[in-house]
Amino acid sequence: MNVYFDTIGCRLNQSEIEMMAAQFRKAGHIVVDDAGKADLVIVNTCAVTSAAASDSRQKIRQAAHKGAGQIIATGCWATLEPQAALNLPGVENVVLNENKDNLVSDFLHITPLIFDLEPLAREPLPGDHLRTRAFLKVQDGCDNFCTFCITRVARGKGVSRPLTEVMADVMNALDGGVKEIVLTGVHLGSWGKDIDHTLHLRDLIETILKETNVQRLRLSSLEPWDLGESFFSLWEDSRLCQHLHLPLQSGSATILKRMARKTTPEKYMRIVQDARAVVPDMAITTDMIVGFPGETDELFEESMAFVRQVNFAGGHIFPFSARPGTAAANYDQQIPKAIRKRRSAAMRALFAEMTHQYQSAYLGKTVEVLWESGEQLPGSGWLMKGLTGNYLRIATKTPINLANQVTQTKITAFSEHGLNGENTN
Ligand code: SF4
Repeated sequence: MNVYFDTIGCRLNQSEIEMMAAQFRKAGHIVVDDAGKADLVIVNTCAVTSAAASDSRQKIRQAAHKGAGQIIATGCWATLEPQAALNLPGVENVVLNENKDNLVSDFLHITPLIFDLEPLAREPLPGDHLRTRAFLKVQDGCDNFCTFCITRVARGKGVSRPLTEVMADVMNALDGGVKEIVLTGVHLGSWGKDIDHTLHLRDLIETILKETNVQRLRLSSLEPWDLGESFFSLWEDSRLCQHLHLPLQSGSATILKRMARKTTPEKYMRIVQDARAVVPDMAITTDMIVGFPGETDELFEESMAFVRQVNFAGGHIFPFSARPGTAAANYDQQIPKAIRKRRSAAMRALFAEMTHQYQSAYLGKTVEVLWESGEQLPGSGWLMKGLTGNYLRIATKTPINLANQVTQTKITAFSEHGLNGENTN
């Protein structure tokens, strides 16, 4: 059977779809790169914003339009609106998030193999770079109650995967030739607490670094309140990528309170300072919501001022999107769309400035790049694209394809891809 996978949204969704692809492949099926060639299409949907929900529906419609066989919809949007998903063309089944880990085994009537990940042993999914990086889901769900968040509604309570199972995945991925492991979860920083309250994500990271020869270990999004000062001593091991994604959401204490975030601007800044005390040029990136209900012009300016003070290396900006089923959707003082749009543009401009400033500091410096993809150039040579540990996107021209290799590269200029470099080894 030919199977096509599509996913939208977070890295967790991506890691889940990778696992499913590995299971189908292991059972003897073929993963194809076009929905039109597929007997079965699985779409992992997202509901984090109304735009993400709309994109999820669009992906399903596109697959049906291309003539896909049957379609299975799973993920957050399909879990929240299963009937709407079933009503879309071609959708024969909706698998709720709670049953997602058994989707493949139930479909194929085989024993679940949910921890058997073989990122190398299959064709890449559209747009992915799986031969270099493996996204490993180590945790699902969340026990917090951020008032804007539909993800916790769709994913349920926090559940961690045991250390031994995560380690088995890590070993499989490394055996498959992967150079970088990315740990993902809905609430990654809570890993372990539901297994044993003395366990912390730190224990998982330490074990991976101690017991494997992983070249790079990257952490996806971490809630700032999960990290203590001692967490940052982990970066004494240079294999841990110098990149922290810490969702701030707002730089205003008043709005953070309305969002029920367990932090304040002061506490957030302390975490940033603790991190920078250990790794001065740590790339600190974030997520921001602008136009949250009750965000006056003054509070928005407060938020902008705090963002400037932190001086982020980058970030994702979302205009507030009222998701039915969340507390914030029913809050008073909703902000008109035109204002949300204007604030979003202003916040994006500020982040663009900070990103440019962060990247400028690397011009002329030599960095280590893991090359993820290559494009053969007309005539001869390759245009390679890759990432540094601190998430700088680098492109370079080389005589040979360097995919999945790490080289020292001197950053020479800004480019349409991010930054240009020249190999020095
Ligand atoms: S920490 Fe907040 S934003 Fe993150 S998943 Fe949990 S409830 Fe949602």
